[in-house]
Amino acid sequence: MFMFKKILIANRGEIACRVAATAHRMAIKTVAVYSDADADAKHVTACDEAMHIGGSAPKDSYLRWERIIAAAQATGADAIHPGYGFLSENEEFAQACADAGLVFIGPPASAIKAMGLKAESKRLMEKAGVPLVPGYHGSDQNPALLQREADRIGYPVLIKASAGGGGKGMRAVESSEEFAAALASCQREAINSFGDDAVLIEKYAQRPRHIEIQIFGDAHGNYVHLFERDCSVQRRHQKVLEEAPAPGMTEAMRQEMGEAAVAAARAVHYVGAGTVEFIVEQRAGGMTFYFMEMNTRLQVEHPVTEAITGLDLVEWQLRVAAGQPLPLKQVQLHRRGHAIEARICAESPDNQFLPATGTLQVYRQPVCTRFERADGPTHVRIDDGVREGDAISPYYDSMVAKLIVHGDTREQALARMDQALSEFHIVGLQTNVQFLRHVVQSQSFATADLDTALIPREANVLFNQEKIGLPVAVGAAVALTLEEEKSRETADPFSRTDGWCLHGLTQRRFEFEIHGELQAAHLWREHDGTMKLSLGASPLPLRYESTHKGLQLELDGQRCLLQVYRRGEVVHVFGAKGATQITEIDLLAHAGVAQHEGGRLTAPMPGKVVSFQVKAGDTVSRGQPLAVMEAMKMEHTIAAPADGVVAEILYAPGDQVLEGAELLTMAA
Ligand code: ADP
Ligand code: ADP
Ligand code: MG
Repeated sequence: MFMFKKILIANRGEIACRVAATAHRMAIKTVAVYSDADADAKHVTACDEAMHIGGSAPKDSYLRWERIIAAAQATGADAIHPGYGFLSENEEFAQACADAGLVFIGPPASAIKAMGLKAESKRLMEKAGVPLVPGYHGSDQNPALLQREADRIGYPVLIKASAGGGGKGMRAVESSEEFAAALASCQREAINSFGDDAVLIEKYAQRPRHIEIQIFGDAHGNYVHLFERDCSVQRRHQKVLEEAPAPGMTEAMRQEMGEAAVAAARAVHYVGAGTVEFIVEQRAGGMTFYFMEMNTRLQVEHPVTEAITGLDLVEWQLRVAAGQPLPLKQVQLHRRGHAIEARICAESPDNQFLPATGTLQVYRQPVCTRFERADGPTHVRIDDGVREGDAISPYYDSMVAKLIVHGDTREQALARMDQALSEFHIVGLQTNVQFLRHVVQSQSFATADLDTALIPREANVLFNQEKIGLPVAVGAAVALTLEEEKSRETADPFSRTDGWCLHGLTQRRFEFEIHGELQAAHLWREHDGTMKLSLGASPLPLRYESTHKGLQLELDGQRCLLQVYRRGEVVHVFGAKGATQITEIDLLAHAGVAQHEGGRLTAPMPGKVVSFQVKAGDTVSRGQPLAVMEAMKMEHTIAAPADGVVAEILYAPGDQVLEGAELLTMAA
């Protein structure tokens, strides 16, 4: 049977590495493409060859399809795998590949086009008999008509950009009075982000769950579905955790949804991997599903399907694109156990999920395991496109890695996820790892009480949670300092400068910055040899031992195993209960106090200025939105830090700014 000799992967990050891994296993050669920012990226080394295609911004590299096609031709590739995002759902690119004699590893351009716009795809699905959310998806966009339609559908409704994606271009509207303003703002975002302001309106489902069906078609007219994934845990309409199977799914509903998804695929003569997304309404009487959209590509969360089916979906994509029939028929497909995926992102959950950039100074992963049988499912899988030392730049999205676990039951998968997250240590930038642990531990997630409002509902246990207490953090930092000194001492016994005498009664002082204030901790040894740590009132007995597994710390009779990393003055502490960090002031090195930055308003991350809501001379109050910035594909509103008057605006919309750049000045 025909198979490609060489493919070009028109993507970056984890998905480029993921595709390369399967190609390698199938002995297919791979060509990477890369931007300036990705010259040393992991995906480049994961491939057999690589071609530079331009500047760091996607529009200068990963979206420049004429360069990508030229790279494929220059390297003699037979086919192009687009991954997800970038050009994966661009019908012109799919067509251009075909015109250049290259196989596009994805559906035909006509199917991408048919499913590209949400409104048109809903019109098509209506004809194919697939159930739709009550709503309006007509081409007449007269605002008065849209308002009447929303009133008819009944509130709450959701306005969606027809060309939208990635959770952008959506507005929930609670009442008729709010509709006109929400419509205008949705259309503005739609034209800016997607160049098309057409919208559709949907009834906002009650207690909605996002359940999607993985489908596959081949060029011979065969179709199968590979069961469902539940992606209800979301923030900003974007997925955070995904699992398969969907809790509470009955065999009858699974079959019905599978058949509806296959009908959707058949209606557009679909070939390859695709996902039909449904919104599922939960009422007292049970669950009702409605078609939402079809994604004509491999999804981020495809590994949970791989985990429960034991299949390699990228291998299926390659075989189908090479003209082979689907490897299995519907009756040959089986599910096994339960899988959960967590998206590990560079972001700050406690600060409205603001994306973060920085260097992965520490990047330690849980061990990937495969216990049961040699061909059994992997218990812990990590798909990533980074290594320790790599930078997370503002040019691309904020996903650092995907962590996928499998268990015989949901409970087992859940426990494995929690354990694996506790072993995932990232230092150097903010991530959502601890937040994900809190979600996994939350009552709603643990009991599978799922809907898209899970995160706001559980907010009080998800945000601003420190599970490692201050005394343990201080104890760990002190132990680390002593261990570091000990290893230096072994190297050079004359280099000690601290006056600390291990067997004497001298008290040793450490300084920490806690909640912005300096606080001292004292350490001494009692006559009986026990070490005591005091952080104010009562001294606590401290013991520790550095082992190959990490730091065994015993404070006040409580033992725990910790991993401790020092980066500059910050000590990062990871344990089974969570993670925390503490700033230890190096008394010798420290001089002066930071300058107060009064009256300045600076960019919290590198990105693009979208708009200013104020002009020079405006009086503003604390918390008032002043500017909108865009970074890592998301918009962020920047609010006034205090009451004042805007003195000067220092940038214009469209300007690219660095982190810390002063955007405007304010007078008190
Ligand atoms: P998936 O549906 O594969 O699980 P997501 O829905 O989270 O993944 O989003 C990933 C997909 O959405 C990718 O194709 C990504 O490029 C696309 N996407 C994300 N943000 C945007 C955006 N602002 N505009 C257009 N597409 C986006
Ligand atoms: P995108 O193209 O951005 O992925 P979708 O149409 O798939 O847009 O919707 C994204 C998310 O928005 C869904 O996963 C769901 O959480 C929410 N959503 C979409 N439609 C509805 C609806 N009718 N009712 C309630 N929530 C919805
Ligand atoms: Mg979607």
